[in-house]
Amino acid sequence: MNQPVRLEASESTLLACHECDTLHRIPPLTPGHTARCRVCGAKLLRNPKGGLDRAIALYSTALILLLLANAFPFLTLEIGGRSEITNMAGASWSLYRAGMPELAVVVFITSIAGPGLLIVCSLYVLLALRLRLRVPGVRLALSWLSHLEPWVMLDVFMLGVLVAFVKLGNMATMHVGTSLYAFVALIGVAAAATSSFEPQLLWQRLGVRRRR
Ligand SMILES: [Zn+2]
Repeated sequence: MNQPVRLEASESTLLACHECDTLHRIPPLTPGHTARCRVCGAKLLRNPKGGLDRAIALYSTALILLLLANAFPFLTLEIGGRSEITNMAGASWSLYRAGMPELAVVVFITSIAGPGLLIVCSLYVLLALRLRLRVPGVRLALSWLSHLEPWVMLDVFMLGVLVAFVKLGNMATMHVGTSLYAFVALIGVAAAATSSFEPQLLWQRLGVRRRR
């Protein structure tokens, strides 16, 4: 994550365009406005509408949906009179038992651990800033966000579920569990949550708070 250079004299941000390297001094943006490069038009900084409250609401919803997605059956398969109930963690465990431990670990990280850590870290930073709490590790949690994002692949997991539906459709009867509905909702809410705040603005807010 490229941290903006914080200026001591004001809350404006000094940023280099990631496309053409032109340096810009960006004044504080009002909610809903986006700063663009004056040379190439690339997006430099965005201040999403709704502020921290909207981001906190979306990440709280995402956390509840992730817990629901892991608390109930995901799919129930009926093959030849046998019934097997699968949950999200069970998908990774099935891959491990099938002799694919590496794939099991990747599926677990990208569908459960990665999204969980990203949501918790985001909420930790957002709540600390919103409530002006002087809690430890806020900067560390904020710096982790960009590292965690590549490990969140909820849509890829869903794609795998759809492929399983098609492949197993003729061999087994499949019943959708509560978790699958929660998971589908989680994909949409997580995408909205990710775009609900600008990490660079949070770095700026941390700098402002620190000077108080
Ligand atoms: Zn540019």
